[in-house]
Amino acid sequence: MAEYLNQLNDTQRQAVETTEGPVLVLAGAGTGKTRVLTTRFAHILLSGKAYPNQILAVTFTNKASKEMSERIAQLIERPVEGLWLGSFHKICAKMLRMHAELVGLASNFTILDTDDQLRLIKQIIPAYGIDTKTTPPQLILGTIQFWKDKGYTPENLSLTERNNSEKAQIATIYTEYQKRLQQINACDFGDLMLHMLTIFNQHSEILHKYQRYFRYILVDEYQDTNTIQYLWLRLLAQKSDMPANICCVGDDDQSIYSWRGAEITNILRFEQDFPGATLIRLENNYRSTPEILGAASGLIQMNTQRLGKTLRAANSTLQGEKVTISSVWDSDDEARLICEQIIKLHQEGYRYGDMAILMRTGSQTRPFEERMIALGLPYKIIGGVRFYERAEIRDVIAYMRVVAQPADDLALERIINVPRRGVGPAALQKIHQIRRELTIPLSDAVDYLLIHQGLKGKIFNELTQLMNHFDQTRKKIEQDGHINAIEYLLDICGYMDMWKHDPAPDATGRLENIKELFHAMAEFPTLLEFLEHISLIMDNDELSGDDKINLMTLHAAKGLEFNTVFLPGWEEGLFPSQRTMDESGNNGLEEERRLAYVGITRAKQRLFISHAANRQLYGSWQTSIPSRFIEEIPNQFTKIVSYFKQSQSYNAQQNRFKEHRYSQQSTLTHSTAYEGSKSTSIKKPYTPPKTKSIPVGSRVFHQKFGYGIVTGVEQNKLEIQFDKSGIKNVIDSFVTLES
Ligand code: ATP
Ligand code: MG
Repeated sequence: MAEYLNQLNDTQRQAVETTEGPVLVLAGAGTGKTRVLTTRFAHILLSGKAYPNQILAVTFTNKASKEMSERIAQLIERPVEGLWLGSFHKICAKMLRMHAELVGLASNFTILDTDDQLRLIKQIIPAYGIDTKTTPPQLILGTIQFWKDKGYTPENLSLTERNNSEKAQIATIYTEYQKRLQQINACDFGDLMLHMLTIFNQHSEILHKYQRYFRYILVDEYQDTNTIQYLWLRLLAQKSDMPANICCVGDDDQSIYSWRGAEITNILRFEQDFPGATLIRLENNYRSTPEILGAASGLIQMNTQRLGKTLRAANSTLQGEKVTISSVWDSDDEARLICEQIIKLHQEGYRYGDMAILMRTGSQTRPFEERMIALGLPYKIIGGVRFYERAEIRDVIAYMRVVAQPADDLALERIINVPRRGVGPAALQKIHQIRRELTIPLSDAVDYLLIHQGLKGKIFNELTQLMNHFDQTRKKIEQDGHINAIEYLLDICGYMDMWKHDPAPDATGRLENIKELFHAMAEFPTLLEFLEHISLIMDNDELSGDDKINLMTLHAAKGLEFNTVFLPGWEEGLFPSQRTMDESGNNGLEEERRLAYVGITRAKQRLFISHAANRQLYGSWQTSIPSRFIEEIPNQFTKIVSYFKQSQSYNAQQNRFKEHRYSQQSTLTHSTAYEGSKSTSIKKPYTPPKTKSIPVGSRVFHQKFGYGIVTGVEQNKLEIQFDKSGIKNVIDSFVTLES
C-alpha cells in the first residue's frame, strides 16, 4: 500500500479511496477530516484520475490550503501552480476575473472592504431621504450582505423582502449600490460569489465548462456553508451526464457561523441532493488528551440540537493534565497570569508558535497585547486586518488602486486631499456633481473640470499635477516595474514628505509601515496581483512565519490546533454573549456552546480556561460571574485555581466597586426586586461569632454565585447577599475572602 495511505485508519482510508460518487464525512473535532481531504487530493493525483487543476478544493483557512498545496508538491515532486484551492471567496475572485464582462465589470475590478462599502452607502443615502438614526448605514449594509449570502440579487429579491416597508427602502438602495459598484468597476466580498452564481445561472455554457473541468470537488468545514455557497457548489457538482464526485467533510457541533447565514441544514440535505451518497463517520480523535476531550464532550452534550456522534481519544492510555480553570481579579490580571504561564512553558521548551489565546471578541486582545509588548513577548494577531487597517497603509493602497484602476472613485476620494491640496468639501462636491451629471468616474470628472476650467488657482495646479503623476506612474510601471513606480509616485506627489515632516511621535513608525508594505509587495509580480492579495487578506488567517504566540478570535481558530490553548474571558455576558443570553429560545446559546467546543478542541496537550471577576466593558468596570460553560464541564476533567490575592489593594477594589456599582445599578435593582420576598430575612450586621475568620460585612467571592457581602454567620454556614444572585446560604469553605 502506498505510504500516504498507511498514515490513515481504515475508515479514513475508505473516505480517501471512495473517489467516485458523493461522499459525506460527518465527524467530531480532530478526527482527521482535513487530513482525509488532503490525502484524498493526493490520492486522486497519484492514481492518475485528474490533473491538479481539475480538482476544486474549498478550505476554510489559508493554513489548510497551504498544507494541501505543500503536500501535493511533495507528492508530485515539483511546485504546483494554477490550483483551484482556497476559500470560496478566493476561488470565486479567480473565476470572476475571467468572466467579469458578463456582469458589467472589467477584469481589473477592485474588491472593496467594509470601510469602502460604508462610504459608498453613505454617498447613496442622501438622495433617498433616509433617516440614518432609525436606519443607520451599517444596518443597510448588513441587510445587503444578508441578502447576498442568501443569493438574492436586487432583481430576484423575494417578494416577502420587498413587501416589508422598511426592507423595501433598503432594496432600493441595494439596486443603486450595485449600480454604483458597477460604475466604479468594483465589487464587494458578497458579490464575488453572487456574480459567479448569476453567471452560472445565465450562461449555461460557462457552467458546463466548469462542471466538466472540475472532476473532483472537495469541501472542508461543510457545516458552515451559507446558502449562496451551497447553491454555487450544487450547481458545479450536480451534472446531468456525470456522477457528482463531491466529498464534503464537516461537524455539526462546530457550526458557528449561522449569524453570517450558514445553514446547518446543508449537511442534513446532502443525502437528498446527492442520492446514493456514502456517509462516513470518524470517531477517533488524534488531537487531544482524554481530559481535554472529556471536557469538550461533556460540554457539548448540553446542546439539544445535535446529530450526535461518538468521539474518543485515539490514545486513551495517554494521560494528560486536567483542564485548568483560573479565577482572577480583573482582565489585566488575567493577561498577567496567562503571560506568566506562557513564559514558564517557553522555559520548559515549548514554542511560542504552539500556544494560542482564543477570545470571544476581537477587542479582548488589548490587555494581552499591552502585556506582551511590556514583556517583549513575540505575538501575532491572526485574522485581523490590523496592519492593513492603519491609515498610512490604507492611503498608500488607495494610491495604488487609482493607478491600477482610474475608475476607482473611493480610492481617489480617499487621497485626493492627502497630502493637502486644497480640495475642500466644496470642491469635492463640485467634482461629484459632474460625476453624477455625466455618469463618469470621479477621476474623469476631475479631468473634465480641469479642461473646462471648472477648478481654479491652487486646486487647479495641484490636481493637474496629481493627474499627471498618475499617468506617469502607469507608464513607469511598464518600464521600471510596479515597486519603483509606486515609490516614485509617493515621493513626487508629496505623500512621503507629509509623514517625514510630521512632528507626531508615531510618524516614523508610519514610514516604517510603508516600507513593510513594499516588502510585502515585492512578493507579487504585478500591482494587480498584490491588490488582489490585499483584498483577500480580509479573511486572512496566515499562520506561517516566526515563532510567535497566536492571538485570535474563536471564530478564526476553526480547523487549527495548538499544543497549548488559553481561553480567557469565560464570563456570563461575555461568553455566552449578553445578546444570546437575552434572546428568546436556545439557538444563540447553543451556537455559543458550539463555539466553546471549538475553542476547547483546538488544544492538543494543555488547556487553560479563565474568568475575571471584573472587566472593563464600554469604559466602565463591571463585575461578572463565571460562565455557565465552566460549570457544564464535568469536574473530573478540571482543576480550579483561584488567583485572588489577599494583598490586593483594598482601596483599589473599593474604588472599582464604587464605579461598577454605579454602572450596575439597574442590575442590582432588578435582583433586589426579584429577591424581594427574602429581603426581610437579611440579618443586620452584628459582632459575628468566629468561624473560618470570615466576619459579617466581608466581601467574598463564590465560584458559582460570584461576589457578595456576608450578611450572617452561623458556625461554618454563611448567609451572603450576592451582587447578582441574591441571598444564598453557603458553606464557608466554598468562598474566598476578598478584603
Ligand atoms: P477539526 O474538526 O478541528 O477541523 P479535523 O477532523 O479536520 O479537525 P485534522 O485537523 O485533520 O482533524 O486532524 C487532527 C490531528 O490529528 C492532526 O494533527 C492530524 O495530523 C492528526 N491525525 C489525523 N488522522 C490521524 C491518524 N490516522 N493517525 C495519526 N494522526 C492523525
Ligand atoms: Mg479540519
